[in-house]
Order: sequence, then C-alpha cells, then structure tokens
Amino acid sequence: MRILLVEDEPDLAAGIARALRTGGYSVDVAPDGEEGLFKARSTDYDAILLDVMLPLRDGWSVLEALRRSKRTPVLMLTARDKAVDRVRGLDTGADDYLVKPFDLSELLARVRALIRRSAQHPDPAIVVGAVHIDQAARRVTRGGEPVGVTAKEYAILEYLALHRGRLVTRSDLYEHVFDETDDSFSNLIDVHISNLRRKLGHDLIATRRGLGYFIE
Ligand code: CA
Repeated sequence: MRILLVEDEPDLAAGIARALRTGGYSVDVAPDGEEGLFKARSTDYDAILLDVMLPLRDGWSVLEALRRSKRTPVLMLTARDKAVDRVRGLDTGADDYLVKPFDLSELLARVRALIRRSAQHPDPAIVVGAVHIDQAARRVTRGGEPVGVTAKEYAILEYLALHRGRLVTRSDLYEHVFDETDDSFSNLIDVHISNLRRKLGHDLIATRRGLGYFIE
C-alpha cells in the first residue's frame, strides 16, 4: 500500500514517514500543497495524509481540487480541534481527521482502517484457501502455521488478496507497493512472487503472461 504524506514540518514528516514505512507502507512525501496536489493527481495512492496548514496551498484547497477528479481516501491532520474545522473537512470530502499532536500508533491504526474501508474489506483478516492474512498484525499463516515473509512480499500478497478475483497488472503493483525512494528493477516483482509461491503454495498466485497476476 502506497501513501502520500503532505506535511511541511520536516521533523514531523520524517517521523511519520518512518513509522509508516516500519508499518510496511510505501511512502511519498510532499512538503507543500502544490507538490502534494500534483502527486495526489498523478499517482493512485491508497491513502493521503494531508496537513491543513501548508505553504503555497492549504490542505482544504488541496482536498477541494483533488475531489474534482479523485476519490483517494484522505486523512486530514489538523492542528486545531474545533467543530468548525471537522465539519469543513468532512464537508469538503475528507474521510477522517486527526488532531495534532497525535500518537503515531493511533495514526497507523486510522490509516489501516481507512484503507480497509476504501477497499470495502472491513474485516482485517483475509482468507485465501489455507492462507490467512492478518492485516492488523501483518502476519501470514498457512494451515495455521506462521510463515515468515518480507515487508515487500507481504505488501504484494496483501494487495493481490484485497483485489482477489481481479487481474492485478505489474504497473498496479509498482504503483501501490513501491514508492519514489525504491530503486527497483523490473524483474524484482517476479522474484517476490516466486518467493511467495515457494512459501505459500505454487497455486496461490496465478500468472497471466504479459498481463499480470491473479488470486482466485
Ligand atoms: Ca503544517
């Protein structure tokens, strides 16, 4: 899952980005509203964390402009806990908001819930045959036995499982599982997929040659 963080305070942005990456997300960061809007329009993020007070263009204006073309889930980060701000945020099309200062663990919990809601998959557990994916704990079991997967393997598996029954193209995976800091070669996805097959069973993920991947 790939997240855009629009936040102008460098220390806070670095802290949030680190927490999100530790939580297994790919993260792009924008330090002002203009760059935030540009990135939000040009990439299909799984969620956007949007600060309200930003240079060049404030969070409200970014959200308003974005909503003309995209439904990406947005969590507003607001410095003030005033009813008028909350109402404005929800009216403008924010999906949730968090008042600063907040706990990073609460932020991560909100992000997970936001992504689950938008994937229309409210249950944090995904079951595919004998494979059980616990999205809250980011743990995978097969036939009840824990299976160790790397952060990228987990991210690819989770994305495919959330979109089961649909073809997921390689570019979908690049867009949602990797971020602008990843320096990846095009065959890397194949390596992750073959590791997942080795660990979880060879029939779990089907390949549509030249198109992408598929979980039944
Ligand atoms: Ca700010």
